[in-house]
Amino acid sequence: MINLKSHDDIDLITRGGAIIGGLFREVEGRVVPGVSTSKLDRFCEDYIRSHEGAVPAFKGLYGFPGSVCISINEEVVHGLPSSSRILAERDIVSIDVGVRLEGWCSDSAWTFAVGDIDEETRNLLRVTEDALERAIEAACPGNHVGDIGAAVVSAVEGTGLGIVRELVGHGVGREVHEEPQVPNVGRAGFGPLLREGLVLAIEPMLSTGTDAVRTLEDGWTVITADGSKSAHFEHTVAITAAEPRILTLAPVPTGGVGPFPA
Ligand code: MG
Ligand code: MG
Repeated sequence: MINLKSHDDIDLITRGGAIIGGLFREVEGRVVPGVSTSKLDRFCEDYIRSHEGAVPAFKGLYGFPGSVCISINEEVVHGLPSSSRILAERDIVSIDVGVRLEGWCSDSAWTFAVGDIDEETRNLLRVTEDALERAIEAACPGNHVGDIGAAVVSAVEGTGLGIVRELVGHGVGREVHEEPQVPNVGRAGFGPLLREGLVLAIEPMLSTGTDAVRTLEDGWTVITADGSKSAHFEHTVAITAAEPRILTLAPVPTGGVGPFPA
């Protein structure tokens, strides 16, 4: 069942989402060589909990042990924070964060560069972020879920990058994962109709190589099958009569991280 949200519901989701936006702004300067992913995880958890009533929505979700997912280089999603995973110069690090506040969830991910990265990797980040921006633009009433996937495809076409198809976006609300699924490939005009009040996590995942993925023996970490690097950008977005409303932004734009710096 697809649940539509009221204006008040969406305002509440935005309050949690703003915590994630603020967190990404704070965490950017901490994604540096020598830091462990468990230290980043702790920072994220402390930051979220410093806001009254807010908790990390991923902690314990399906049994996930961390507060946030931290995925390095060929890891696409669901990386487990660990004291033995130390960031190195030229890594890219995707941090995927869920917040639950007053019974409502929000979900957003960002891929950060550790120090200087090569041009191919910079391009991967640029195209993935652009794909998210274009996919969000397609999230309008009267369009269909397939228009979102089609927008990702058109943003990626001709770049040689792979679109990870096995993982999808989703509805967000009382639960982190609600219907409908939001694939990153699609045909315009196909799939569930987008209606005002629908809240979706839109989250393209691209790779510099194959679109095939596999899960490591830890049962969580999804990596690209060929070891190529992967990027992941995600916002929680409400479909409104006016324009798509991004709910996971920092409260005051500073020109730092996101949503789409010029
Ligand atoms: Mg996410
Ligand atoms: Mg998500």
